[in-house]
Amino acid sequence: MTQTPARPVPKYDIPGDISVDDFAAQAEEWLATKLDRRPPSAEQVWGEGEFDVSVFHAMTFDVERAHLDKLLSWVQSKAERGYHAITWPRAFGGLGLGRSHSRAFGRLERQFMTPGVHETLAVTRTLIAPTIDVFGTEEQKERWIPPFISGDALCCQLFSEPSAGSDLAGLGTKAVRDGDEWVVNGQKVWSSGAQFSQFGELIARSDPDAVKHKGMTAFIIPMDLPGLEVRPIPQMSGGSSFCEVFFNDVRVPDDVRLGDEGDGWKVALTTLGFERDHSEGEGGSASGGTWGKVLATANAMGVVEDPVIRDRLASMYIQTRVESLTNRRAADLAKSGTPGPESSLGKLLWTEGMYQMSEMVSSILGAKLIADSGEWGTFEWGAHVLGAPGYRIAGGSDEIQRNIIGERVLGLPREPKADTGPWKDVPR
Ligand SMILES: Cc1cc2nc3c(=O)[nH]c(=O)nc-3n(C[C@H](O)[C@H](O)[C@H](O)COP(=O)(O)OP(=O)(O)OC[C@H]3O[C@@H](n4cnc5c(N)ncnc54)[C@H](O)[C@@H]3O)c2cc1C
Repeated sequence: MTQTPARPVPKYDIPGDISVDDFAAQAEEWLATKLDRRPPSAEQVWGEGEFDVSVFHAMTFDVERAHLDKLLSWVQSKAERGYHAITWPRAFGGLGLGRSHSRAFGRLERQFMTPGVHETLAVTRTLIAPTIDVFGTEEQKERWIPPFISGDALCCQLFSEPSAGSDLAGLGTKAVRDGDEWVVNGQKVWSSGAQFSQFGELIARSDPDAVKHKGMTAFIIPMDLPGLEVRPIPQMSGGSSFCEVFFNDVRVPDDVRLGDEGDGWKVALTTLGFERDHSEGEGGSASGGTWGKVLATANAMGVVEDPVIRDRLASMYIQTRVESLTNRRAADLAKSGTPGPESSLGKLLWTEGMYQMSEMVSSILGAKLIADSGEWGTFEWGAHVLGAPGYRIAGGSDEIQRNIIGERVLGLPREPKADTGPWKDVPR
């Protein structure tokens, strides 16, 4: 069974009371010794370098594995100085500094040629590690947080099922207690990065007699347990970012249970809250394209003087600014560490922005978007247009975010519920 690798807690020369300016100056010096500078995105040099605007990786398993390894080695290089975990306590290998230090590092890192992003690494570091911090025992935090934030081990989300997506609380994968173990049977689906993960955050039905939100329990399971099978799903954008995961009498030790028995819904909501929180981004290039790349494309196609295109470019720029300011506000509201329902606003603005970007480049490029003319920076946008709709569904669809905002931010009446009795009696 997979064990988490031990990484010694490094000692840093970065004092805990360092000012943001001094911290940023040191970080920039360090980054310059490690990476080449990126041309500023607003001034993308047309025709030069890589033009990746894909939302999902469209790669074979081996190519994606190699990309992930490159990225992991960058995170591990940052881990030597604690830059991988600026706001995490030193006991977990972080620097114990504030969000403003972290944001300053993120801004600087984006100025350099980092090896890109990978969803599974972001999920492990920014969704699952913080959830363990909220619900884990002291021993579990020590066991999982350091390797998860440094990329020494990856962890996927095992939440959705063929008949439980938006209605996640209706899930039916069963966990039946047997002494110090649980026996798990059922199926998960859309598990992003399960094929690359050593661990999975599993939410399972442990008490079918309880009402649906109360009868679930969470676990951080090793993905190589006997009886667990991972099958990648091919996607229309190419590649296989996500998988089906089957459980056949999988025996799970109780010491990997996260939170109390019956607390699975709280654990799941906490992870989803972090998923919807876009107030802090992963460093490196933004996946799925940037405003700078859209502008560069419009310039290269000679359409920036077109009044309709100008008007839409201006709307898109305003959208990116509003999104960034809303995220700053959500970050301030979430100072306590756990994002509230306001994070749904940030997620909606993010997916709305990606939709606008898809529409914008479709108008700018026309046929060049769908026929590969070989012209640099054109056909590549197809990977954005095919991938962007996925994030309107992932982590709770746009409609579900609107429900959350209506009910929990605006205080509107709740949706009528027909399934308030024991889960086992709910018709399905
Ligand atoms: C790119 C991507 C990555 C993902 N990664 C993961 C992962 O790593 N782990 C994981 O567990 N899951 C993952 N998912 C699954 C994702 O969480 C679900 O797809 C999502 O919750 C929607 O569930 P569903 O697909 O079953 O759609 P359904 O719940 O069947 O919804 C179908 C439609 O009905 C609408 N709808 C449903 N209920 C309501 C309602 N009450 N009010 C208004 N409209 C409603 C929805 O908005 C949607 O348009 C991923 C999905 C995508 C697209």
